Order: sequence, then C-alpha cells, then structure tokens
Amino acid sequence: MPDDPLARAHELDRDDPIAGFRDRFMHADEETVYFDGNSLGRLPHATRDRLRTAVDEEWGAGLVRGWSRWIELARQAGDVLATGVLGVDPGEVVLADSTSVNLYKLAAAALDARPGRRAIVVESDNFPTDLYVLQGLAAARGLDLRVVPVGIDDGLTVADLDGVLDDDVALLCASHIAYRSGARTDLRAITARAHDAGALTLWDLSHAAGSVPTPLREAGADLAVGCTYKYLNGGPGAPAFLYVRAGLQAELRQPIWGWFGQRDQFAMGSSYEPVDGIERFVVGTPPVLGGYAALEGARITAEAGMAAIAAKGAALTGFALDLTDAWLAGHGFAVATPRDPARRGAHVTLHHPRAWQVTQALLAAAVVPDFRTPDRLRIGLAPLYTRFVDVYEGFARLRRIMETRAYSSFPAERSRVT
Ligand SMILES: *Cc1c(COP(=O)(O)O)cnc(C)c1O
Repeated sequence: MPDDPLARAHELDRDDPIAGFRDRFMHADEETVYFDGNSLGRLPHATRDRLRTAVDEEWGAGLVRGWSRWIELARQAGDVLATGVLGVDPGEVVLADSTSVNLYKLAAAALDARPGRRAIVVESDNFPTDLYVLQGLAAARGLDLRVVPVGIDDGLTVADLDGVLDDDVALLCASHIAYRSGARTDLRAITARAHDAGALTLWDLSHAAGSVPTPLREAGADLAVGCTYKYLNGGPGAPAFLYVRAGLQAELRQPIWGWFGQRDQFAMGSSYEPVDGIERFVVGTPPVLGGYAALEGARITAEAGMAAIAAKGAALTGFALDLTDAWLAGHGFAVATPRDPARRGAHVTLHHPRAWQVTQALLAAAVVPDFRTPDRLRIGLAPLYTRFVDVYEGFARLRRIMETRAYSSFPAERSRVT
C-alpha cells in the first residue's frame, strides 16, 4: 500500500480508460458509496430514456402494433449479450424468464438428452436456487444428485471432481464466480473434465456476466444461464439470459412447450414442434419493458468491452484488498476472496464475527454493501461506474466504524432481506 492511498486512488481514476462510463448512470446523491452492483446494478440514463419511449410511444400510442418490434427483442438482446459480453456467436443466447426458470429448463433438457445416465453433479456451495432446482429435478426423476463438497471461499476446483465424474453423470452444474466469496472457477478445465466423462455442462454466470470474460466458446461449454440485473444493469426483475451451444440446439428440447418456442408461431397450429435455433428455449410472452432495460444494460457493457471491464475489476478489487490489509486486518477482518486476480470476479468478501452489525453500520454511514451468511461482508465493485476514490471512501468509513466500534449499537439479529 502506498503512503498516500487517496492520492493513489486519484491516480488510478485518472488512468482509467473506462472512467467516462460512470456518467452514463444515474447517481442520485454523491454521498452514497454503492458497493452492491453485484446484486442490483445502477440505472443507465439510456435505459430511462428507452423505457419512456417504450411506454409513451410504443405502448401508449402504438398499442398492439408494438409487437412487430417487440417480437424480436429477446433475440436482439441475446445477440448483444452473445457477441459483446459472453464471447459467443449470435444465435447462441436469448433473453427469457428468470435465471432459476432457465436453469430448470436447460437442466431438464440436458437430462432428457442423456437418458441412460442417472446422476447430476453440483457443488455444495452453488447458489441456493441452483441447488433447489436440481434437487427438485432429481426428486421428480429419481436421479442421484451428487453434491461435491467445496470450501465456501474456494469455489469448485478440478481436484474436487476426482472420483465424482463417471459414465452415469448426465450433467454438471457450477457457477463461474462463487456468489459468496467471488472465487472464479476454472470453467475450461472443469468443462473438459465433464466432457471426458460424457456429461453436459451447465454454467451459472450470474456473477460473471459483465464482470469477467466467460470462456464458453474456448471451453466448448454446453449450456449457461445468468442474470441481467447484476453487473449488466438491467434493473430489478429484468429477464435472465440463457446460452445453448449452437451445435447442441437441435438435439435439445426444453420441458415447457410454449407457443413462443413454436415453429411458425402465428400459424396457431394445434401441436408443438419447436422452432430451429435458440428461440426454442423461449416459452411465453416476454416482459418487454424489462427486456428493453436488459438490452440497454448489455449495450453499455458491450461498448466498454469485457477486456477493459475485467482489467478494471481486477484493479478495483486489488485496491480494496490493499486497503483491507492496511486498515482492517487489526480489527478482526479476514479476506475470503482469492488473492490472485485471475481467480476472482469483481467483488471482495471479508469475514468478521460481527459482519451483520458492521453491514448495518455501513448502511447508516451511506455505504451500501451486502451481508452473506454466515459472517461475510460482501463488497461489489461494479467496474463500469465504481471509482477508485469510491473504494477509498467506503473503506475509510468502514475503518472509522471499526475504530469507534459504532457497529456494536446495531442489532445482532438478522432481518428478512440481507
Ligand atoms: C443472483 C443469482 C441468481 C438469481 O436467480 P433468479 O432466478 O434471478 O432469482 C441465480 N444464480 C446465481 C449464481 C445468482 O447469483
């Protein structure tokens, strides 16, 4: 850590090639330090403009005629995500439903495509919805769910799969970035191991999309899902995306046979025959307003470019770890996030026995992080709009809270939403 971390923060901001993107987002007050872009990204100005137009002109004036444009939206946003964010080809990604629902659809489709195999592999600390969806599928089909124990700070490693993958495994499901610690999994090596065993892979990219490059194409990864409301700034409840490798699409059928996945949809035929291509994984009428917001968010990310975003994420998290070492280690904090920037995403997680009280004290001091069980303070540093001086300021307030023990006046009992 340099002698003068504030001067260092200013220097890093001056040299930041994507610093200008901060002005593309709404900042309602300059006092708040926002460290939760990995739960809900900020509002882009372009999104507010787009939604106004969509509401006033397309819906308000155009009424049902708007569908001639809206019908393309899921695929249009999918193509921006594919080429500008996820590094795959147009036609491999589409916007639809929620991450949880997409996970169900793709996992079920994958299981149907490997009918002789009776096992699903998942890591023990995958995001809860992933575990629940797979538990439900395994229960409904009488399959064996093999839960690989992983340390809550480590994410899944190739070594964890020793003795787990065999020719009974149909599907392996894992997160690219662990939601709790921010650990980055070796997507390529794990995909290769799963493929060696003849299994399909389903990646949850919720904390990866818009924070790090996702080597789906290089890995030959089969399937993926993810949120648009986190680093992609699509807004609360914006539809999720799903990815299916082009060469696999014709072979897969998803379990919900809806009319938006139907060939020649408006022929209104009486029996289901899925359309060719990625749109066979869509079910029903898409949420148009949320879809526009997801499209605008994806566009900004694509414009900045994933290489620049990932480089800034590594620098922001590195600066946060430097400040932690210099200011917080003596106050009982330990770092849960990997030190190697290639092994983490764009959030930093610290543990502390009083983390829940510290989280509340930070909120009272206009710093917005979040808390994750059991004792984690999660600090999201969304690269598109977080400045190094914001990291400095947030950590300076945290240091003051620890020095004055201001956290001790907050309840130790957790609230419903953390
Ligand atoms: C945020 C998140 C989800 C959320 O799923 P929803 O269906 O949008 O509620 C799923 N998986 C991971 C890894 C997440 O981080």
